[in-house]
Amino acid sequence: MHSPEEASLRRQLAACYRIFDLLGWTELIYNHISVRIPGTPDHFLINPFGLHYSEVTASNLVRIDLEGRIVGEARHPVNPAGFVLHAALHRGLPGAHCVMHTHTTAGSAVACSAAGLSRDNFYAAQLHERVAYHDFEGITVRPEEGPRVVAAIGDKPAVILRNHGLLSWGPNLPFAFAVLWTLQRACEIQLATAALGPAIPIPEAVQRRCSADSLQFDPRLGGGADVYAALERLVARRDPSYRD
Ligand SMILES: [Zn+2]
Repeated sequence: MHSPEEASLRRQLAACYRIFDLLGWTELIYNHISVRIPGTPDHFLINPFGLHYSEVTASNLVRIDLEGRIVGEARHPVNPAGFVLHAALHRGLPGAHCVMHTHTTAGSAVACSAAGLSRDNFYAAQLHERVAYHDFEGITVRPEEGPRVVAAIGDKPAVILRNHGLLSWGPNLPFAFAVLWTLQRACEIQLATAALGPAIPIPEAVQRRCSADSLQFDPRLGGGADVYAALERLVARRDPSYRD
């Protein structure tokens, strides 16, 4: 039996996988959303390897340690190589209880562009001084890359992995989701704007104000909790099996 805290976290994380599926943020059976189990010495929940995000449920999530080894019983394997990047953040960033990573087309396209993220749209302006970049070193399966990723990220919750994709991290799932959603929207709008010609620049002072006023990042307002709860209700109406 899982503790009440772990059982609740399992439902919240399973909902997150279904939310990603709803938004089209899937990559076949690849990529991960991982979260630290409260009160445990570096144990995490992660998706079972081989299943699509739409098949993830509270009970088939797998408990692993920082090395990606399964702790306890599991019906499915995990992808330890895929966890290496997540482990680097969980290990190296004190506030990284949750890490999520995507290869969406818009996010990967911006990650591949030499100019990186434009600051000239509504969502990008909210991420002023919240975005870190990490240069591509190949598929992120080598632990020795970890300290360089951590150093590149510093305290910035939105991460563009150059030539690769997007990542976010934070104290909990709703906050990391709010960051990743904002970054994803910024990338999508950047691509659409580029098709129309030059964007109208947003002055840096306005970017700063946007970042300061960005409600979904305010911990006093729940840091994205209301958005996350609404999306969880949405996936529950579509298919409540994630709770199983
Ligand atoms: Zn990746």
